Amino acid sequence: MSAVTLGEAFRTARTRIHSTDAGVLLCHVIGRDPAYLIAHPDMRLRADEHESFASLVERRAQGEPVAYLTGEREFYGRAFKISPAVLIPRPETELLVDLALERIQRSPSARVLDMGTGSGCVAVAIASERSHAKVLALDQSLEALAVARRNAVRLGAGNVAFLQSDWFDGLGPERFDLIVSNPPYVASGDPHLQEGDVRFEPRNALEAGGDGLNAIRRIVSGAERYLVLAGWLLFEHGYDQAMSARKLLQAAGYQDVFSARDLAGIERVSGGRLTMAASDR
Ligand code: GLN
Repeated sequence: MSAVTLGEAFRTARTRIHSTDAGVLLCHVIGRDPAYLIAHPDMRLRADEHESFASLVERRAQGEPVAYLTGEREFYGRAFKISPAVLIPRPETELLVDLALERIQRSPSARVLDMGTGSGCVAVAIASERSHAKVLALDQSLEALAVARRNAVRLGAGNVAFLQSDWFDGLGPERFDLIVSNPPYVASGDPHLQEGDVRFEPRNALEAGGDGLNAIRRIVSGAERYLVLAGWLLFEHGYDQAMSARKLLQAAGYQDVFSARDLAGIERVSGGRLTMAASDR
């Protein structure tokens, strides 16, 4: 035992980092929930727990995201394991899952492709909610695929397969009923890349050329060869990219092009479908 109680450790940490973060990190170290922390302020930390907590507080004070320090983040009601090899799942990306689920409601055995799966949060959420769907999750990064695979196993999503691929390059001749992606979409010079949690996230999961649209252009132009007729393409994009996203989709011949707003009221996901063969358009 160390001489330090939970209450004392928490109060010391609060002088260095936000109290919410201090609470989350302390719970993580002792493997208990917040109710325990509140109920047992006089419980003593073991020396090793105190040491790990002090080191996590220091790393948090230096800016490391809490989700990387605990190795976990909730998404679509499930706890995903994460590492600095993958983007931290964000609440607005749940909109992409909602829209995807709506579109495969009537075809329960849909084939779904998730491009740039990262932690696998989108692929695993879709696969879990639609147990008869077959989801293929691809990523260029083997490290990311290892994280995604682990999440699929832990969360019992046996209907997700994984593929290392630079966007469409590694795919065979198969076609999908739905293609989804949360691609990188931040413009290279965006000052936001130097701020907060984003500084610690993998650059290639965030950055996509001078206008942030490089990956989206590649996905929109490539998807046609991998979608069944009338199959949907849905992707997330930046707060100011909805108009560009719709234009790209329309120029590529997509119909029923739309953008949907996230909970903050920002147009965050766009999509469309190809209802005619290229030769008839
Ligand atoms: N929404 C993220 C951000 O602004 C970017 C995520 C992404 O590029 N897919 O930091």
